[in-house]
Amino acid sequence: HDAVVTAVTPGAVTPANSDHFAVFTPYFRRWTEKGVRAVLAAPRTVRVPDHIRSQPYPLRDEMDGLSPGLAEGGESVGRALWRSWLRNGIDQYTENHDDLAGDATSKLSPHLHFGTLSCAELVHAARKRSSQGAADFVRQLCWRDFHHQVLAARPAAAADDYRTRGDRWRSGKSADRDIRAWQEGATGYPVVDAAMRQLRHEGWMHNRGRLLTASFLTKTLYVDWRVGARHFQQLLVDGDLANNQLNWQWVAGTGTDSRPNRVLNPVLQAKRYDPDGTYVRRWVPELGDLRGAAVHEPWKLSGEERARFDYPEPVVDLADGLGRFKRARGIE
Ligand SMILES: Cc1cc2nc3c(=O)[nH]c(=O)nc-3n(C[C@H](O)[C@H](O)[C@H](O)COP(=O)(O)OP(=O)(O)OC[C@H]3O[C@@H](n4cnc5c(N)ncnc54)[C@H](O)[C@@H]3O)c2cc1C
Repeated sequence: HDAVVTAVTPGAVTPANSDHFAVFTPYFRRWTEKGVRAVLAAPRTVRVPDHIRSQPYPLRDEMDGLSPGLAEGGESVGRALWRSWLRNGIDQYTENHDDLAGDATSKLSPHLHFGTLSCAELVHAARKRSSQGAADFVRQLCWRDFHHQVLAARPAAAADDYRTRGDRWRSGKSADRDIRAWQEGATGYPVVDAAMRQLRHEGWMHNRGRLLTASFLTKTLYVDWRVGARHFQQLLVDGDLANNQLNWQWVAGTGTDSRPNRVLNPVLQAKRYDPDGTYVRRWVPELGDLRGAAVHEPWKLSGEERARFDYPEPVVDLADGLGRFKRARGIE
């Protein structure tokens, strides 16, 4: 049958020896060769079965618990966002996609999630362009399909390790305290806290933030990926089972990543993807007086200087966290 949620139907392309691809690159090749179905015209009328009684949508102001900075939704908004992304975004995607402060990714994920934009349509339009940015954008859309075809073939991966590493994740009081600090954006690592606060405020987080906060929770704090996935799922406007759970597993090293023990160092990540600290100052205003990259390492200030900032000490020493993780995974 035709793809609906994805651009290519899960299971439409498979490797010789399995019902799904566990490695992205060969999947991407086959996905590209397969091609994407034609975009269908909107139906002129939609017949609603008689037994369904229509109810008015609640208005935004009537809904509890929405993220205060949630972007507006709906098809017209999605279409406008897509047009403006084609005009000034997609062709620069390659250079800009990892720049935390620039915030120059498409932000189309909620529309793909709710179906206010069609993934097939996006792929067709992007393929008409010749830029590297457009090609890399299509590749990201393929990642979305990739995770969908993994979950379709292995539904248990929504809750269980796709490939177990025998982890005995931390639990108990000290783990609970660390989890709370992570959720609240109070770990003492500014870039982690900035991203966690963006999530809470916008119901959305930059991909680089998702990677480094997930690595921080699962590897530096050695907390179960399910704890993080649940928190994300509760707050993300684009939260979906396939992409959330399987990206979490990818970062935790229990999924399809071929380097399961890779650990992202939050300070190095911060210096690389937020070199002048703009992203951190946007979300962690307590540190707003710290200029440039100094904002990434407030613990380097003298005690007297530190006392000026109402900001927590790091919940964990990075070297200790790394040591704990390596012992747990039995690696040198
Ligand atoms: C721990 C973690 C959890 C995540 N949870 C979700 C989730 O619940 N829902 C979700 O849609 N994405 C998730 N992602 C993937 C990615 O972070 C978001 O799709 C992206 O940040 C959305 O922003 P954008 O639309 O501006 O992306 P762009 O960079 O503009 O990319 C365009 C589109 O490609 C797709 N895409 C990009 N990166 C990925 C990826 N790594 N995996 C799958 N699809 C991707 C998305 O549909 C996205 O809208 C997660 C990533 C991580 C590391």
